[in-house]
Amino acid sequence: LLSGEAMFNEDTERLDNPIRPKLLEDFQGQEDIKDNLNIFITAARERGEALDHVFLNGPPGLGKTTLANIMANELGVETRVTSAPAMDKPKDLAGLLTTISENSVFFIDEIHRLKPTVEEMLYVAMEDYELDWIIGQGPSARTIRIPIPKFTLVGATTKPGKVSSPLFTRFGINVRMNFYTQEELRDIIVRSAGILDIKIDKDASFSLAKCSRGTPRVANRLLRRMRDFAQVVGDGIITTKVVEQGLKRLEIDSYGLERHDREILKTIITKYNGGPVGAETLAISVGEGIDSLEDFYEPYLIQQGFIKRTARGRVATPLAYKHLGLELHENQRL
Ligand code: ADP
Repeated sequence: LLSGEAMFNEDTERLDNPIRPKLLEDFQGQEDIKDNLNIFITAARERGEALDHVFLNGPPGLGKTTLANIMANELGVETRVTSAPAMDKPKDLAGLLTTISENSVFFIDEIHRLKPTVEEMLYVAMEDYELDWIIGQGPSARTIRIPIPKFTLVGATTKPGKVSSPLFTRFGINVRMNFYTQEELRDIIVRSAGILDIKIDKDASFSLAKCSRGTPRVANRLLRRMRDFAQVVGDGIITTKVVEQGLKRLEIDSYGLERHDREILKTIITKYNGGPVGAETLAISVGEGIDSLEDFYEPYLIQQGFIKRTARGRVATPLAYKHLGLELHENQRL
């Protein structure tokens, strides 16, 4: 099984992957987001202008990179893709911004991780489409302004709270991505199966959707795994029986929780009396990086009502006890 960290960068997921939607009409679910974006994109295209900068936030695998790419396709412009940790110095950003084409989409993933010097350069670029460039050193140093093409910055993050307010306020469009419904995930599974020529029963696609943690990336990954099971231990068609057996082998339960999710819950309950326990302590206890705990595991556990975030740390809810078949602690029985 892939750990949370690996789920961030599954390399079967390149931008040219055939199951990645290319246009808004292929992008399933998130109707409100699509409707609004469609209007903003149409308006910008009709005026021949760059779309306003777009801030995308939400857990990994919900379609942020996909949406950035779709925006460029719909606008008929190029996309440049990078991530904040890849830009070490202002000159890395300058190199990208001076070579983009007019009105293109510039996608920065993990935008909460920009270096301060890079971030400062980005402010001016976003606002004035210019770069402040320092030449010379010491007392003779001076700043010149270099014009750059107009562009749309699409900044994506799983941690909106960590984005500084000067940066955040420079985005004109703010999109919050939510977990997908089971129906939306079923549609994604059916669409992907069609493209990949995978045979799957109607009921089976819904069972799979139910265990996909509200996340298209997980849905697509499970679909590929079930195809393997159907091929090797079944007769090539993904049926509910194949799904049932496959999920059991992968140790994924009816809520879509994996072994590691259950370990997290169990740790809070047995090691910390149900909590509260701080995120960092918890991450160390379960041998997970703080980022994958906070970005990948927690949002779904919280959304499903297994964990609560309190000021003093994470708390396991009665549902978590019930799901694991454990007795409530005294302090939880209020
Ligand atoms: P993020 O950037 O938020 O981590 P991605 O854009 O990489 O997520 O999406 C993960 C995968 O899920 C992509 O390969 C894409 O094919 C699929 N996907 C995401 N959102 C949708 C959607 N709304 N409809 C269909 N497929 C989607």
